[in-house]
Amino acid sequence: MAGNLQDDARIALDIVEHSPSVAMRVSGDNGAWVIQFITSNVSMFGYRREDFLSGKLTWADVVYPEDLGPLCDTLDSFAARGIDDYNTSYRVVTSTGSYMWVQDHSTVARDAAGNVLYTDCVISDQTSMVQSQEKAEDNLRQQQVLNDILQALHASDMDEAFRIILDRTGVYLDISRVILFEDNPDHTQCSAIYEWCNQGIPSMLEQGEFTLDYKTDIPDIEADLKNLGLRVVDYGDVPERSNQEFTREGVIAAAIFSVYQGSERYGFICFDECVQHRRWEEDTLAFLRNVSKLVSTALVRKKDEEAVIRMAYHDQLTGLANGYRFDHYLGQAIEDARADGRYGYVLFIDMDDFKIINEGYGHDYGDALLVRVAQYLEEQFGESCRLFRFGGDEFTVLVSHHQAGQAMNIVDAILARAQHPWFVMDREFYCTISIGVVRYPEADDGVTEVIKNADIAMYGAKNQGKNSFVVYNRREDNDSLHRAETERRLRDAIENGYAGFQVYYQPLVNIDGEITGAEALIRWQGEDGRMISPGDFIPLAEYLGLIVPLGEFVLQQAALTCQRINTKLPNFSISVNVSIRQFQQRDFLTRAEQILRQTGVDFSRIVLEATEGMVMEDIGYMKLMMEELHALGLRIAMDDFGTGYSSLSNMRELPLDIVKIDRAFIQDIATDAYSKTFVRLITDLCHSMGRAVCVEGVETAEQYRYCTECQTDTIQGYYFYKPMPKDDMMAVLFESEEKNV
Ligand code: C2E
Ligand code: CA
Ligand code: CA
Repeated sequence: MAGNLQDDARIALDIVEHSPSVAMRVSGDNGAWVIQFITSNVSMFGYRREDFLSGKLTWADVVYPEDLGPLCDTLDSFAARGIDDYNTSYRVVTSTGSYMWVQDHSTVARDAAGNVLYTDCVISDQTSMVQSQEKAEDNLRQQQVLNDILQALHASDMDEAFRIILDRTGVYLDISRVILFEDNPDHTQCSAIYEWCNQGIPSMLEQGEFTLDYKTDIPDIEADLKNLGLRVVDYGDVPERSNQEFTREGVIAAAIFSVYQGSERYGFICFDECVQHRRWEEDTLAFLRNVSKLVSTALVRKKDEEAVIRMAYHDQLTGLANGYRFDHYLGQAIEDARADGRYGYVLFIDMDDFKIINEGYGHDYGDALLVRVAQYLEEQFGESCRLFRFGGDEFTVLVSHHQAGQAMNIVDAILARAQHPWFVMDREFYCTISIGVVRYPEADDGVTEVIKNADIAMYGAKNQGKNSFVVYNRREDNDSLHRAETERRLRDAIENGYAGFQVYYQPLVNIDGEITGAEALIRWQGEDGRMISPGDFIPLAEYLGLIVPLGEFVLQQAALTCQRINTKLPNFSISVNVSIRQFQQRDFLTRAEQILRQTGVDFSRIVLEATEGMVMEDIGYMKLMMEELHALGLRIAMDDFGTGYSSLSNMRELPLDIVKIDRAFIQDIATDAYSKTFVRLITDLCHSMGRAVCVEGVETAEQYRYCTECQTDTIQGYYFYKPMPKDDMMAVLFESEEKNV
């Protein structure tokens, strides 16, 4: 079977010649390899074997110049370590000037002394393998870029994400410039928003605002982007740049992609090449298309982020900054004022009884009113101060130390404005305002203290009867402690079956001094046994809504008392104060009716008192309410008349039975001619309208005499009786008759 040696060698050579591997034997020093034998398939590199055999070419001549040095080093190191069988890989320059990657398997032959005799090499083409390896490495790098971008998109800061997208893509492509452009609203122009520049490339953004016009600066681009979402510019293929676009930026080639924010076109991203000719391979473009999609994702996230920030920092209804913003700016303002050694002010604004409008007319009106007030504040003070909707119907004005001198003028202006109606959705609403004023910085007060103190001052203004302002001072801190304590005790007492509450009665007399009825007045016995005056807890109970159960308690007690008295004195009537908070309850009528029915009282013997101020706040609503109460048979008195803003025509419209002239008037008759005239005039007018008149606060004989002169119907005052417990009143009523009724 075995042939002779020569035949075997020929066969082996044949096999090698037809393989993709060149076989050769070289001798000589590194870098000057002389070829002793080489197979003719060296033609795969474009050379003839004769050129090598004749010595015209050595192997060193065809090794890629850059690879020759490193190859020699590698061979030296093998020799030094005594390795005679090894693989190397390097590039071979082909006869056409390109190169091919090869793997070279070498075996060194030595003589007995160890000197190199020759080296046998088998050289195989690795180009396609190396290329796919390069491709794999490139894919890996692309993957890395996309990973970095995705990671940036997960971070919260989208500005940073844009920077990372541009930077990573730019570095990866080794391109000149990456710019993101945003269209103007009508998509006729675009402006650079973010930019990344490679080393040595001038920045466009740093030269100022960079805006381009689609018609004149970059014609046709818009159509391309619209149709294809892509525009590739390659001036390498265009002999003369007929087209002016991009040339002024020195762009030789560019790939441009549309980017979107959700479904809306946002603008485009531009990858510029200014240094060398660049061909846009299809897979590079595919990668860039992915990058553009990620930019679009980032744009959507940015929009969401901005929406979240807007939502977090702005009040959606009024558009003013909100409470969070207030905290932030106040903190800043306190620091600034402290640094400048000056004072600023916080105005804490609360709309008096906003709830009436909101609940009485519906939230649309409430919302519109808030918007109206915010608009007013913005128009008047928006330029000089920072305004916030603090929450609900509360606004704050931050008067910085630069404007501090204006603070009280602003307060005055707001209060003056609030004396006039607000026009809202074709209606007029009266809604006065209470303002708490606090100065900062005080001691080492921070944001929390300033807000707390402003709130205390505002509450003080409410307590003063609303429609006013109070400037915070330290002393009121005690009041606030007092307030918290009172609040706790009020709640406890009401939960404990009105423990400590008692209804007192102040008899009312006719012009002859005979008792015709009484006013029920609540009293609260404190823990120490002292009586707490209603002035000290009614405003708080109203503020907390506790006046509703408390008022029902008074109504029930008064009705029971009245019913008992009526068995003996059928004309005796009792007046009960009703808070605006009670009137605002949707079920007020049914609740009142139910309570009164249970007591068995004659409805016509009960008078409900509403203060003039609260009637005027919402005259339409109160008129309807009064009509319904009338329908039940109850009588109605307008309390504290003269302190509010009602006009006489209002009075005529309202179904009132009694008008109670505020005690300020009778108390001033000796000193103030106006008050004196007021009492007489009102009495006459009321009589002409068929209303009864009660004068409150008669303390002296002279005041009583004036009442008789004016012919008022009833008189209430210490001159006759002070408020007293029920049993005392019973005693007064029936002293001449048998005891126990
Ligand atoms: P008001 O309805 O105007 O009640 C009359 C107040 O004037 C009572 O004060 C009474 O004690 C006081 N007064 C009567 N005659 C004189 C006088 O000759 N001189 C002076 N200086 N004062 C006189 P009081 O009992 O302290 O009540 C204060 C306010 O508290 C009441 O003013 C009323 O607005 C409110 N209030 C009292 N009880 C209730 C209640 O049950 N419900 C509601 N919602 N409010 C109540
Ligand atoms: Ca009253
Ligand atoms: Ca009164």
